[in-house]
Amino acid sequence: MTANITVNNRTYRWMDRPLVVVCLDGSQFEYISAAVAAGSAPFFSRILAGQGTCLVADCVMPSFTNPNNLSIVTGVPPSVHGISGNYFYDPQTGEEVMMNDPRHLRTGTILAAMADAGARVAVITAKDKLRKLLGHKLKGICFSSEKADQLTMAENGIEGILERIGMPIPSVYSAALSEFIFAAGVNLMERERPDVMYLSTTDYIQHKAAPGTPIANEFYAMIDRYLARLDALGATIVVTADHGMNAKHDAKGEPNVIYMQDTLDAWLGTGFARVILPITDPYVVHHGALGSYALVYLPSDVDQTGLRSRIAALAGVETVLARAEAAAQLELPADRIGDIVIISRQDTTLGTSRSRHDLSGLDAPLRSHGGTSEQKIPLLANRTLKDPPGNRRWRNFDAFDLGLNLVN
Ligand SMILES: [Zn+2]
Repeated sequence: MTANITVNNRTYRWMDRPLVVVCLDGSQFEYISAAVAAGSAPFFSRILAGQGTCLVADCVMPSFTNPNNLSIVTGVPPSVHGISGNYFYDPQTGEEVMMNDPRHLRTGTILAAMADAGARVAVITAKDKLRKLLGHKLKGICFSSEKADQLTMAENGIEGILERIGMPIPSVYSAALSEFIFAAGVNLMERERPDVMYLSTTDYIQHKAAPGTPIANEFYAMIDRYLARLDALGATIVVTADHGMNAKHDAKGEPNVIYMQDTLDAWLGTGFARVILPITDPYVVHHGALGSYALVYLPSDVDQTGLRSRIAALAGVETVLARAEAAAQLELPADRIGDIVIISRQDTTLGTSRSRHDLSGLDAPLRSHGGTSEQKIPLLANRTLKDPPGNRRWRNFDAFDLGLNLVN
């Protein structure tokens, strides 16, 4: 057996059975508890009944997909790994860029370190946008269900997965995109039996359907069936989420939005301030790029204190922080956030300009994330804790610590 392994100043015991860490995108705790209450999720039911570990943890801010997936696989917050959003503005180059490229990553992953130390590692994501970050310097299997028909040994460490599991390539906007991950994960566990597996789904269903709805319960029932199979195959399973999900619309079903670019243009003159929404990604149909977190970039000679108070007074705004405060309080890299960080309330989103948001694809009242109101997420395991949980602040990026060090 290999000795312990230390990554980003955290030490992990070598696995004595396979470890599967699952990130259920957009899993507000209530999705799981409602599916259990409906009798749709016997595997989760056992965990919630005490036959495993059931903790409520905090995800990292902003409560978006990329920063949190990278926190889970590095064991550290964005201030260390550098991925501060799905999208960021680089004032040095004046460019707005997606944060999908490993050049933005400032530290290595637990996955790559374990593979280097001899573990067989497999990573399966929903969307291909995450694959390169999660697979950074990883010697092992790494692919997305989105591009599962284009695998090569050189790029992905595996081929022919469609034929193996007998599912067609799923649409990028579907529950099947996530189901494919689990079907492939079970197949790998049966055939290759990886030592470590990281499965990361997409929140297409959660953006559309509230906890306890038939669509949501059916989705969690599907997940539950696959997790039960991984459990039966003898793996330690840790389930967490990248962020929660809340309704962000009014009684008529219209999204609650503060268009910050329009507001600042009216206050300060057009284009004086630049509003960036780090939720932005190429797949915006299901949320219209509306979340509860926005950054404001300003010329250096502005009275920011006065402006912050004015923004804080807007109805629907929860928190307004200066760059240094935000970096310290929210564990963010100061050079990759705005001069001002705005977080809106649970029921409200922040936009840029009304004209820049295409909401035509929203076929259900808006549900989204990004704020502190989506920070509470589940941290579950199919084995019990060795010691009582104590009053530590559990984080989703404790997932590997939990699975390797803390459970029986
Ligand atoms: Zn997400």
